[in-house]
Amino acid sequence: PGTLYVVATPIGNLADITRRAVETLEKVDWVAAEDTRHSKPLLHALGINQTLISLHEHNELQRSEQLLAKLKNGENGALISDAGTPLINDPGYHLVKLLRDEGVNVVPLPGPSAVITALSAAGLPTDRFTYEGFLPAKANKRLAILEGLATEVRTLVFYESPHRLMECLQSMQTAFGEEREIVVARELTKKFEQFVSGKLHDVYGYFIENSDKVRGEFVLMLKGAPEKSEEAGEAALIEQDKMIQVML
Ligand code: SAM
Repeated sequence: PGTLYVVATPIGNLADITRRAVETLEKVDWVAAEDTRHSKPLLHALGINQTLISLHEHNELQRSEQLLAKLKNGENGALISDAGTPLINDPGYHLVKLLRDEGVNVVPLPGPSAVITALSAAGLPTDRFTYEGFLPAKANKRLAILEGLATEVRTLVFYESPHRLMECLQSMQTAFGEEREIVVARELTKKFEQFVSGKLHDVYGYFIENSDKVRGEFVLMLKGAPEKSEEAGEAALIEQDKMIQVML
């Protein structure tokens, strides 16, 4: 059988395409893309003329079987999404799972992903983090998920669309308190790239005052809750201070 290459593409800046991605997209027999109309200009800009096959949420199961047959026939293919790394909040999971189950070779070509790009420059702990993707659109469901994460000590990463940014920041204040540290990364790798950081209520206030900045693409990163040992340590220090005061 042939090989499926899972190829990351830029998240805004075309120069972030890797050499290996270009070579691979040129040499494969076809490219499965989330939105062929979206990917055509990308391939065109890279000077690549390829057969595009659509693979999106609504046809992934059926399409995966067809692509499996092609690969079993000895063809090589590539999978790309509209931006960044396929399968990271993008289609491809069913295809990759099917190919793995069927013993077909799947080769990842690393490249941009908004989550890693955002974390790499946010200034929040990155030794452990949890990627939560998009929160539900409904306020009660969103709040329930956030409340479930309120004591999570790892850095939390979310994707959010501009028209839900403000509601999302509000729900976060309810679930985590206004003082929790947040870093909002906007328009990564693009002309208007911006990082806004501070306490939740300050960052919320910033976007209230600068509503022109509530546009583009966003990654939201929250500092995790203090570790239990940290909290216990702080409580012990407060107790110690009290004792010292009493003794004085
Ligand atoms: N597969 C992509 C990846 O690897 O990051 C994610 C695709 S997901 C459908 C799109 C979301 O990713 C956007 O709504 C935004 O939250 C985030 N995103 C993508 N590109 C971004 C960028 N240039 N700046 C900030 N966030 C971005």
